[in-house]
Amino acid sequence: MPTTTRTAVLWGPQQDWKVEEMTLDDPGPGEVLVEMAYAGMCHSDEHVVTGDLPVPHFPFVGGHEGSGVVTAVGPGVNLVSEGDHVSMSFIPACGHCRSCSTGHQNLCDEGAKLFDNQMMTRAAGEVSHRIGDTEAARFAQLGTFSEKILVSQSSLVRVEPDLPLDIVALVSCGVATGVGSAVHRAEVRPGQNVAVIGVGGVGINAVQGASVAGARRVIAIDPVEFKREKAMEMGATHTYSSVEEALLAVPELTWGEMCDSVILSPGVVTGDMVEPSLNLVSKGGTLVITALAGMLESDVQLNLFMLAMMNKAVKGTVFGSGNPRADIPELLSMYREGVLKLDQLITNRYSLDDVNQGYQDMRDGKNIRGVIEF
Ligand SMILES: [Zn+2]
Ligand SMILES: [Zn+2]
Repeated sequence: MPTTTRTAVLWGPQQDWKVEEMTLDDPGPGEVLVEMAYAGMCHSDEHVVTGDLPVPHFPFVGGHEGSGVVTAVGPGVNLVSEGDHVSMSFIPACGHCRSCSTGHQNLCDEGAKLFDNQMMTRAAGEVSHRIGDTEAARFAQLGTFSEKILVSQSSLVRVEPDLPLDIVALVSCGVATGVGSAVHRAEVRPGQNVAVIGVGGVGINAVQGASVAGARRVIAIDPVEFKREKAMEMGATHTYSSVEEALLAVPELTWGEMCDSVILSPGVVTGDMVEPSLNLVSKGGTLVITALAGMLESDVQLNLFMLAMMNKAVKGTVFGSGNPRADIPELLSMYREGVLKLDQLITNRYSLDDVNQGYQDMRDGKNIRGVIEF
């Protein structure tokens, strides 16, 4: 028996989200039906609205952060069962490809399908999501802006049932990406100086990750005053409103050492941000780029002579270079022990019908993280 659900979709770029009725097939082999509890409103969904992230098919169901409860499983499902509480992982982790089997689940081969037509079809090519008679594509094979979702078990991570599901939704993208950018990719060590440029849903967690890892100075840079104040609550030691302002102060602050690592996490990253960010990096230090750029952006300004002579590194990262199946439960247990502050990250809650208001608030700098409450 097909299931019907309400879902927020885009019918094309530069449009508002529209709430539509969607039909889901019964779970097929390896598939799971989940009743959603919360969906996080990440900047990456906004990239589909602006067109920075071109998608191959509309209608397009938004959302790739979320939590919920399993209500039905298809044949062969062995990782979750009915009644389990789950977090969604926007990178599926199959467990047996070369990346997964070498401890790099963030690079799972299944993730390669996220931006092509596979996003909307099952392995067998049958279509499982329909709005009227039209096939619907889904963000990251998930589409969490939906009361119910039908997904592969590779995209789900089981969590302890007493954890609050709003917190579970946050760790599935923003928290894991931010903390991992500091801990896994920048490899922050005790005593280091770290700067985070852009304090949104990802950057605030890079601040927190650097602080938990023992950084001596955590410098948060953001033009929005409310975000700088939030950063101080979450472990920042200094804040500046721009990279230019930081470049004037950080040499004296660090006795000329500058920052062992700089994490670049603005809403949208552009090539002209790289050189000023690298100027904050110490000799031998690392710049981690953790934000999405326009898919066709390929021009970067950077002084190649100084890059080599100062022995600096520029590193990209997806999912904070972590392993969803290990990191999501680990981050939640750090939350449980009071090591990570996650309650403070949710700035506003919205109903599914208010999704456009939620994104307007994000554009206006009012949200660290907004969540949809089902
Ligand atoms: Zn996200
Ligand atoms: Zn894999």
